[in-house]
Amino acid sequence: MLKKLFWKQSLKVQVALFSNHPYPVTMPETPKLSELKELIDKCVMCGGCHAGCPTYELTRRENDAARGKVLLASAILNGELKPDGRLAEKFDHCLTCMKCVETCPAGANPVKVINSARNEIYKNSKRQLPNFIFEKLLPNPKRLSILAKFLAFALKLYSLMPPLNFLPFVKENRKRKFPNFKFSKLKSSYPKVIKGDGKASLKIGYFVGCMADSVFHDTGKAVIEIMKSAGAEVHLLKEEVCCGAPAYFAGDHESAKVMARKNVKLFNEKNFDFIVTSCATCGSVLKETYPELLGEAEASSFSSKVVDFQKLFVDELWNKLTFTENAKPIKVTYHDPCHLSRSMKVRNEPREILQKLPGVEFVEMEEADSCCGGAGSFGIKYYDDSLEIGRQKAESIRKSGAGVALTACPSCRMQIAELLNRYAPGIKITHTAILIRDMLKK
Ligand code: SF4
Ligand code: SF4
Repeated sequence: MLKKLFWKQSLKVQVALFSNHPYPVTMPETPKLSELKELIDKCVMCGGCHAGCPTYELTRRENDAARGKVLLASAILNGELKPDGRLAEKFDHCLTCMKCVETCPAGANPVKVINSARNEIYKNSKRQLPNFIFEKLLPNPKRLSILAKFLAFALKLYSLMPPLNFLPFVKENRKRKFPNFKFSKLKSSYPKVIKGDGKASLKIGYFVGCMADSVFHDTGKAVIEIMKSAGAEVHLLKEEVCCGAPAYFAGDHESAKVMARKNVKLFNEKNFDFIVTSCATCGSVLKETYPELLGEAEASSFSSKVVDFQKLFVDELWNKLTFTENAKPIKVTYHDPCHLSRSMKVRNEPREILQKLPGVEFVEMEEADSCCGGAGSFGIKYYDDSLEIGRQKAESIRKSGAGVALTACPSCRMQIAELLNRYAPGIKITHTAILIRDMLKK
């Protein structure tokens, strides 16, 4: 109780720092307000969420831990702070890694509070470029494809330039390592329905996601090849739109809802046995966030079918496949993507796969489930911080002695490639599906 009072007082100081408005100000009512209040009231201000919070461990600032953010959200809720663009920075500096959700003894779910506060702020600030991206580009596959081509071209140019200091993402005379963005889409190189080898036992919708479609074709190809070899009928829905994660995590829940509704309708029409993802963030948004955005009635049948590829492999595909007996020995380690281990609770399956695959020696790295520092736009907006947070991940991988690190999230893969390039050169990072595919009997 005393602790709660103390932190409420400290909040008043923060309010004075961040607000030019007479205290208190009135805040417009929104439909999310009641939900936010319920979650905020659960916080007992114990500070347990400081432990393991990557942004707090980096800066040691209260506002960079969940408790500070819950306090700011409480001030928004009480009308003591106006949820405008000036507050955005405080909530943006968070990886939504969910470590605080895991550690919070009171069940306050700070990440829900943070996302709701971002939504309040988004609705109350004018952000023209994000508005254009979230409302006009992401929900439209044709426009997104033009953006992907533009990025492919821009990054090609970037890769040819020397590490000049005025360029973005240059640190210690080195440029950021970006993956190759492709000029064509993965889905355009396959038919809509890929028949399984042998008797089809499962009808699977593959939610390819923007990254496998436009960047990591090798992941998408491996996932399709494994499912096909196991006899599944694989469907690729060309009208699939972005899962909505970039809009949702930036606070634009309305645009995320538009994308959610499109995907749910599209996939529900096909009556799949499973909807598989090879991206931790897509998977977690489809499974956990869609019911929150659209309501259980509209999204629950869709979301209940969503499964991470590694889990599907262990539960349904493994026993239908034959593996090579002459696999070249390989030593690997595994990085847990936050949205896969903490949101979708997929932790054991990748380890089971790696312990049993022929020729594979699996070594657990230290703190395998600590965030790599990528977290989508965080790694772009706070590049230096993302490197600082991720440095420990590169060190854990190096200390494991593995020659290859594996993961199941394109965003983590992109970030870890950059980290290894800087701090542990020579070690590769790839998706678990690619290793599995390489071990199949040809
Ligand atoms: S989600 Fe992660 S970075 Fe954000 S406050 Fe929680 S522990 Fe810290
Ligand atoms: S969010 Fe949870 S862990 Fe953090 S201060 Fe509140 S009750 Fe404690």
